[in-house]
Amino acid sequence: MSDTISFLAPRADVLARRRQIVEDLADLLPPECLVHEARELMPFETDAFVSYRRLPLAVALPRTTAEVAAVLKYCHRYGVPVVPRGAGTSLSGGAIPQEDAVVVCVSKMNRIIEIDLFNRLAMVEAGVTNLHISESVSADGFFYAPDPSSQLACTIGGNIGMNSGGAHCLKYGVTTNNLLGVRMVLMDGTIIDLGGKALDAGGYDLLGLVCGHEGQLGIVTEATVRLIAKPEGARPVLFGFDTSEEAGSCVADVIASGIIPVAIEFMDKPAIEICEAFAKAGYPLDVGALLIVEVEGSEAEMDDMLGDIVAIARRHGVKTVRECQSATEAALIWKGRKSAFGATGRIADYICMDGTVPLSQLSYVLKKTGEIIDGYGLRVANVFHAGDGNMHPLILFNANDPEDAARAEAAGMDILKLCVDVGGCLTGEHGVGIEKRDLMRHQYAEADLAQQMAARAAFDPGWLLNPSKVFPLEGRAGA
Ligand SMILES: Cc1cc2nc3c(=O)[nH]c(=O)nc-3n(C[C@H](O)[C@H](O)[C@H](O)COP(=O)(O)OP(=O)(O)OC[C@H]3O[C@@H](n4cnc5c(N)ncnc54)[C@H](O)[C@@H]3O)c2cc1C
Repeated sequence: MSDTISFLAPRADVLARRRQIVEDLADLLPPECLVHEARELMPFETDAFVSYRRLPLAVALPRTTAEVAAVLKYCHRYGVPVVPRGAGTSLSGGAIPQEDAVVVCVSKMNRIIEIDLFNRLAMVEAGVTNLHISESVSADGFFYAPDPSSQLACTIGGNIGMNSGGAHCLKYGVTTNNLLGVRMVLMDGTIIDLGGKALDAGGYDLLGLVCGHEGQLGIVTEATVRLIAKPEGARPVLFGFDTSEEAGSCVADVIASGIIPVAIEFMDKPAIEICEAFAKAGYPLDVGALLIVEVEGSEAEMDDMLGDIVAIARRHGVKTVRECQSATEAALIWKGRKSAFGATGRIADYICMDGTVPLSQLSYVLKKTGEIIDGYGLRVANVFHAGDGNMHPLILFNANDPEDAARAEAAGMDILKLCVDVGGCLTGEHGVGIEKRDLMRHQYAEADLAQQMAARAAFDPGWLLNPSKVFPLEGRAGA
């Protein structure tokens, strides 16, 4: 085989080369670890950002770091693009393949390697699901803190790719705050270790760079994560307000007062109705906005903190305060919140935006979001991590109507620009992916972008790893 593969070659030539790549990969992987028939490739043609679909050239399902390295080394040698993939739950199109790419999916690498309770850490393979880590240590009184609503399915490799967060990240931080080390394969097949079991490492913070790299710096095959001791007790409390603005300014004041609950989640009226119809969580239906505030600690600590939060909520006109009375009730409250995206999908097509704003701007941005949505003649349900200022307007539309879809996309872009304009940013936890790559120039100056691209190119000079994501296609340095 020649040393380069041109995808601009005539069709017959391209097909022959595709066949050659599949044959070569079959020498590196057993048959059950390589998918190449069109029918079998279909589950990999998109991710949870279902607006775009492409069948990849092939899907490799390696079982070990060595197999990942062999595949990447081969693809590097022949210039074949690679799209890393975990469970494919990305909401920004991060795991969507391109047709000339080999998808490397780590789902078969799903072993817990070591639980070290003494040092409060777990070493896991990249395809282990987020929830599986907590389940593995629950009986010993520990958990893994970042809890995306997709935690039943999403992998720790994908969480690192997107620097994922969740409802309980207000107190414990997102993935980057809970990651101690990774083993990662670079595009040329080199295996590197960053971080480890210790709390800090010398040199540049490359682990920080890898967290949120969207599959562009390498393929993570193993991760070492922090385990946290379960609190003595935890209590979610529902706070109902007449308006979203009141709820938003209450959140800002709680955080400004120095109180850090474990979670502060927000739902507006449409979101409350959608989630209640699905989960029967007992949410009040006579309010315009709802906060789920969870506190934890001893009974006395929780009472103390709640007393302060209720006093602040009263200053913002809170209408309903309902403390949860049992573990079953608490589970239902969280079930309702965590099923929000799925429950919304039952009533309409939607796109989920993911912008972050300074808390002082929360009320203003909620109000402006409503105006933007009205301006496009659309509907929205807001359900998001309010304590972090991480907003998720779910813009409802009809995917069978191209004009409606275009309006929804345009409204989403306007909302994200608004987040940037008030001092926030384009993403809180879902990444840039394909969805927001063209908005990166709205957030960053050319020099800032160029420096980010230079950092990316230092890991993958040929831009073969997940090449069509994150950065605008025009003007890519070194691409
Ligand atoms: C219903 C629903 C609810 C969600 N709720 C949340 C939420 O609360 N918080 C949140 O943060 N996100 C949420 N998400 C988004 C999504 O689940 C996260 O981004 C998640 O981390 C993706 O994990 P994954 O395994 O599915 O990765 P994928 O979607 O397969 O990939 C995500 C990105 O990481 C890269 N990647 C994957 N594996 C690796 C690897 N081993 N090495 C290098 N790069 C890799 C991919 O190339 C891609 O860029 C939600 C999604 C859905 C569908």
